[in-house]
Amino acid sequence: MISTNPLAPLDDDKFHEECGVFGIFGSEDAAAMAALGLHALQHRGQESAGIVAYDGKHFNAHRDLGHVGDIFSSEEVMARLAGRAAIGHNRYSTTGETALRNVQPLFADLSLGGFALAHNGNLTNARHLRRQLVNQGAIFQSTSDTEAILHLIATSEAGSLIDRIIAALRQVEGAYSLVAMSSNCIFAVRDPMGVRPLVLGRLGNAYVVTSETCALDIIGAEFVRDIEAGELVVLDESGVHSLRPFPPAPRRPCIFEYIYFARPDSMMEGISIYETRKRIGAVLSEESGIDADVVIPVPDSGVPGAIGYSERSGIPFELGIIRNHYVGRTFIEPGQQIRNLGVKLKHNANRRYIEGKRVILVDDSIVRGTTSVKIVEMVRAAGATEVHMRIAAPPTTHSCFYGIDTPERSELLASSMDVEAMARHIGVDSLAFISIDGLYRAMGEPGRDAALPKFCDACFTGDYPIRLTDFEGHNEPAQLSLLAERA
Ligand code: AMP
Repeated sequence: MISTNPLAPLDDDKFHEECGVFGIFGSEDAAAMAALGLHALQHRGQESAGIVAYDGKHFNAHRDLGHVGDIFSSEEVMARLAGRAAIGHNRYSTTGETALRNVQPLFADLSLGGFALAHNGNLTNARHLRRQLVNQGAIFQSTSDTEAILHLIATSEAGSLIDRIIAALRQVEGAYSLVAMSSNCIFAVRDPMGVRPLVLGRLGNAYVVTSETCALDIIGAEFVRDIEAGELVVLDESGVHSLRPFPPAPRRPCIFEYIYFARPDSMMEGISIYETRKRIGAVLSEESGIDADVVIPVPDSGVPGAIGYSERSGIPFELGIIRNHYVGRTFIEPGQQIRNLGVKLKHNANRRYIEGKRVILVDDSIVRGTTSVKIVEMVRAAGATEVHMRIAAPPTTHSCFYGIDTPERSELLASSMDVEAMARHIGVDSLAFISIDGLYRAMGEPGRDAALPKFCDACFTGDYPIRLTDFEGHNEPAQLSLLAERA
């Protein structure tokens, strides 16, 4: 049910979060390929995953909470997912019974046949659409915004499935990379601004669509190209077909994918994520260099930035903090208490490289500041004489409504504090962030063109390129976030 509070999250299961999608058409081992692809995309969603495969007669699905490797480990499960076409999805969700009904891909028997749908992104008029659909008699099974797309397709008066998909998507606002499957093809669509990533690959005679190139690498597929902003691609027995069903819009891929979210070994829009992160570190060193003895990354996401910083500044790089890889990302754990504990579980000082040293700590971003406070405390306790923090992103001042999970604005440290106040809060001798122009330079641009920025950078600028229909009329939009603690 939609909350009667217009600012409350759309759902209690908090569906609006980061995800990975995968689709393959024309492979004998389609579901196994999808499972491998989802495994490579595990960083995009660690709490649930699902695959729907089509065996020529039936659609078979398996979805569960947990990690991809555990969900798709049994031969019995994989045997049930036979067929030459499959789509898959992984995501963050809350744990517990109720979350299962939201695990994607969603599936519906439409009047034109079976249809499965997986979505990465977040719709910004989902509540509005849902209200309309419910008034027309639609019965929602899940609390997800993705289900609204399914209903729009199901009830469309257009003739063919593809026309129905197009008609549905023309009513949708927000960021989406969708992968869908019918009995004879796979569809892949990127929203008109291309906020969330989506790429096309090839494996022999089979075609693959997925969130990141690292999911192509794992199955030995070759990268063909990025799906373009506003492009709808159809994969079927005759190959790849491309349509442009939306009015042209300026491309605005998400800049945060490059800073933090995507895997460093992925390429997006012809740009290497790892290279970009190193360049960000180099620009950071140019902009806010300081004399010190050692550059230490906050692992793992701060590592490429710290390498770039060290190379440019000539200050030695050391792994002065070691991360325990068997703990999930602290950021996604619900509740402040657990988040605090999580940081301690996750990181340990490599004392020998810290004691008696002036330390530059490099991290990719500060969100609430929880990680930074703990890390700085730890580095001081390990005997650092000075601690300087350098952040490979501008201050995060605004929430994301387009599919990256961020807390609501009031919880973002940079929304209420300037850099000096943040430095005091975190307990560092100095704190600096890369400038927004510096970030664009690291991305190969001359700077941020305020009239037509090349990326969606709303989290740093508040410049939201896609309408936030569900929040219009409210001064302070609420973040539709799984991070927000349940009331
Ligand atoms: P915080 O401790 O709240 O300041 O969060 C900052 C840390 O979380 C940084 O070390 C980032 O690597 C990581 N981070 C930033 N954004 C996200 C996100 N959307 N999801 C998960 N982790 C994030």
